[in-house]
Amino acid sequence: MHNLFDLNGRAALVTGANTGLGQAIAIALAEAGADIVAAGRSDAAETAARVRAAGRRFHFVPTDLSRKPQQAQLAGVVEQALDAFGRLDILVNNAGIIRRANAIDVTEEDWDAVLDTNLKSLFFLSQAAARHMLAQGGGKIINVASLLSFQGGIRVPAYAASKSGVAGLTHALANEWAARGINVNAIAPGYFATNNTAALRADPAREPQILARIPAGRWGRPEDLAGAAVFLAGAASDYVHGVVLPVDGGWLAR
Ligand code: NAP
Repeated sequence: MHNLFDLNGRAALVTGANTGLGQAIAIALAEAGADIVAAGRSDAAETAARVRAAGRRFHFVPTDLSRKPQQAQLAGVVEQALDAFGRLDILVNNAGIIRRANAIDVTEEDWDAVLDTNLKSLFFLSQAAARHMLAQGGGKIINVASLLSFQGGIRVPAYAASKSGVAGLTHALANEWAARGINVNAIAPGYFATNNTAALRADPAREPQILARIPAGRWGRPEDLAGAAVFLAGAASDYVHGVVLPVDGGWLAR
């Protein structure tokens, strides 16, 4: 049973692993045995220390995932990840941004920034990783979706579009690669206490409304994603394809 969740000898590339959910996922994968390559634009020293404390190797690839041309740039990120540990078994597409505005006020700059970061980078990083994973006979791709992969949200139309797109790509890529050994799945976090939700948690009207709707009675903590991440990264999920798994304290059940 234990082997189903054992990631010893695997190498994982995690985007946006310096903070928040990506950091918690990277640490969880390391504690399950994986070496970690973190790709992001901010220093990930704290994550590096936690991964090394778990006895695993850590490598940082500095990159802005939205830098153009994205397809070539992201292929380079995968090359650097492969150079680090000589293998790539797990890709976690975690990095993402949110811009809040009424639909009527959304600018083209906001729209492009959100879609380029949350959706376009996820696709082209997956494409580059899959080229390698298909050649090696398999791998695991875990996308970080959202409740707004299922719902419309409030004042975040570009984000809702991007995360609905993440669910669509999770299905599409799973269809294409399931028979070739790659599991493509997603985690849909509920409301978690990170930078992404700082504005919501500071809003005296929205914070209690959100909390009152969560059956579990509390905001998520980043480490609440550990189990889902290790499950989707390991042999336990070998026949699980195209799933968008809510980890939301029951929000969608309400
Ligand atoms: P966060 O603390 O704001 O972390 C976002 C991460 O993405 C950071 O590491 C950030 O780097 C990185 N990032 C953003 N744009 C980037 C770019 N252009 N290039 C490289 N890295 C970039 O928020 P979080 O809550 O942990 O978010 C992680 C993921 O979970 C996102 O996809 C988010 O949409 C999703 N999510 C969050 C919640 C929630 O309640 N918190 C719920 C559902 C889904 P910097 O530190 O340099 O900005």
